[in-house]
Amino acid sequence: MPALASRLATLQMPATIGMSIRARALRANGYRVISLALGEPDFATPPDAIDAAHDAALAGHTKYPPIDGTAALKAAVRGKFARENGLEFTDSEVMVGNGGKQILFNALMATLEPGDEVVIPAPYWASYPVITQLLGGVPVHPECPEALDFSLTPEALEAAITPRTKWVILNFPNNPTGATCSHEQLRAYASVLERHPEIWVLCDEIYEHLIYDGPAHASLAAVAPHLRDRILTIGGVSKSYAMTGWRIGYGGGPAPLIRAMTTIQSNATSGASTISQAAAVAALEGGAELVQVMRVTYRRRRNLVVSALRAMRGITCAMPHGAFYAYPGIAACIGRTSAGGRLIETDEDFALALIEEQHVAVVQGGAFGMSPYLRLSVAADDDTLLEACARMSVFCDGLR
Ligand code: PMP
Repeated sequence: MPALASRLATLQMPATIGMSIRARALRANGYRVISLALGEPDFATPPDAIDAAHDAALAGHTKYPPIDGTAALKAAVRGKFARENGLEFTDSEVMVGNGGKQILFNALMATLEPGDEVVIPAPYWASYPVITQLLGGVPVHPECPEALDFSLTPEALEAAITPRTKWVILNFPNNPTGATCSHEQLRAYASVLERHPEIWVLCDEIYEHLIYDGPAHASLAAVAPHLRDRILTIGGVSKSYAMTGWRIGYGGGPAPLIRAMTTIQSNATSGASTISQAAAVAALEGGAELVQVMRVTYRRRRNLVVSALRAMRGITCAMPHGAFYAYPGIAACIGRTSAGGRLIETDEDFALALIEEQHVAVVQGGAFGMSPYLRLSVAADDDTLLEACARMSVFCDGLR
């Protein structure tokens, strides 16, 4: 076979997808598998967004889009940033891509030189370090311990910064821990970042609408306007409007960075689907009702799952304040043997034994940079969640 690129050596299939594949294989063998592995809303896309896509297609909006987004969606994104985040952007300061993931990719590709460091507090969304490494960068992971509600101290941020640091990535509410961030914390991060004017800051706020308690969401760029010329704020419609498959995300930041990211995107994908962009306009401008329903529903499910987890033998669970995951600790299960005879030495061993013996798919914390933990998505109906917890409880009771 002709050779593959050496950069593939650092690239793996995300553990979330690996677990979903195992779940599908067991299902094909007739097992009733419950998968809480993926981060995907179980709600339907708002009908108005689907109508807008249909109308756009029939109206002939089926040609190549402007690379950085349609005029209508860029206006809707600017409106959203102004209304919800207190951030005024001009047209040259926002862009649309194929999901928040492409915006992140554009930003890192437009800025990273080989060996540049990217500060990614752990636990983290697994794509940050993978994309960093793919582009020749080096991830640096200060820890956000459970004892601090999975938050990053300003001291830990400062200690992670070196002369090679190019980016700091902040993600609130956080995937996988659900940690949120107060104004005071943001201000403390800002005073660290003030001392390092050569560093870009990426604020991934894709879960901003899914906050259940604690402080309301705030954007660093609004709390620290003097840092705005180096902050890129990322959002999208995947999580807030149950539109993962439409592939629309957006970013707001300084015009020179957005211009560079647009150049990358023009050579990679030529921009996002015009039809999806029309749907995203409708979601951003009229989707508040779904957001409200999802918030109430996820909060109830979070409470359900966290109390069930806390009642399990050997499991601890901090309360996630946002996003739609729980991140229970399993330290007391390490070193034990499952009812099926599997030795649990790591959180991956736990996750693998759980799917084989109780047919519940979750993802090991190691995939998000902090062990021994598990990530469970609560984006499933109550009965499914209760059944998953019941099976997990049987699994924990069986540990010897
Ligand atoms: N940021 C975080 C923290 C995420 O969890 C995800 C989705 N898993 C994304 C960004 C990207 O989502 P999308 O590409 O669907 O917009």
